[in-house]
Amino acid sequence: MDATIRFSCTQCGKCCHNLRLPLSLSETAGWLNRGGNVQIFCEAIPWPQEPAAGNLQARHKRDRSFAAVSGDLPIRVVVSVVASFDGPCPHLLPNMRCGAYDVRPLVCRIYPAEVNPFIELAPTSKACPPEAWAVDQPVFWAAGKAVDLVTVRASEQLRTIDFHEAPIRARLCSLLGIANAALANEGFVIHSVKREALLAALSRINMDAVSDLDRSDWEFVTSKASTRETLLEIGARVVDRDAVSPTGSMEYLAF
Ligand code: SF4
Ligand code: SF4
Repeated sequence: MDATIRFSCTQCGKCCHNLRLPLSLSETAGWLNRGGNVQIFCEAIPWPQEPAAGNLQARHKRDRSFAAVSGDLPIRVVVSVVASFDGPCPHLLPNMRCGAYDVRPLVCRIYPAEVNPFIELAPTSKACPPEAWAVDQPVFWAAGKAVDLVTVRASEQLRTIDFHEAPIRARLCSLLGIANAALANEGFVIHSVKREALLAALSRINMDAVSDLDRSDWEFVTSKASTRETLLEIGARVVDRDAVSPTGSMEYLAF
């Protein structure tokens, strides 16, 4: 815990393959317009009451999510708009440099740092080769956070935008008719939306009109009988994953 970690990018390009990259909404429009694919990942947390003020992890979840209901149950929904590709990123050049360097997503700018401030950086979970972490590299991470100023600023910007856009993502889901989510920590419901429909919805959203008042009615998707029973007992709406077609616009991904 809290180890000092040294790091410098070797520009090997390994981190630019097989990704699900979380995007801000303004980055999403750019990604789509450059021909990339985007999916919408949804998970939801039962939220019968507000957590204690000192519960920082709960506060973080609250800031990243928007308020909604599932039947009689108050919930918070975490929606991630994600650039999705298998194999190399469509922007990766043959020399392993980024072909969209000036407009690359914030999440690319902070790698290998963690987006979530409650997750400690673990080099073994990253794509970077051993030489990137060598003892003669500059200090990148100490006392549980990044020390490199560019990474620090990009991480702060990413979190600020992520929190600001949470209620706007509620509006986006409402416009797209999306209202199914997995139980948090159990999986995701992944919604695939046609590029034109997503661009049209994004163009209708006022990014400055932030409101947490759109309490739409969401339905949980689960593959577990015990989860289904528990959610039904507390008044939520639930559908079994078998009712979700993997070839349709919605699929269920269990952890
Ligand atoms: S946008 Fe650039 S940095 Fe980000 S994954 Fe693609 S090639 Fe890599
Ligand atoms: S995997 Fe690590 S070392 Fe390689 S390009 Fe990505 S950030 Fe740099």
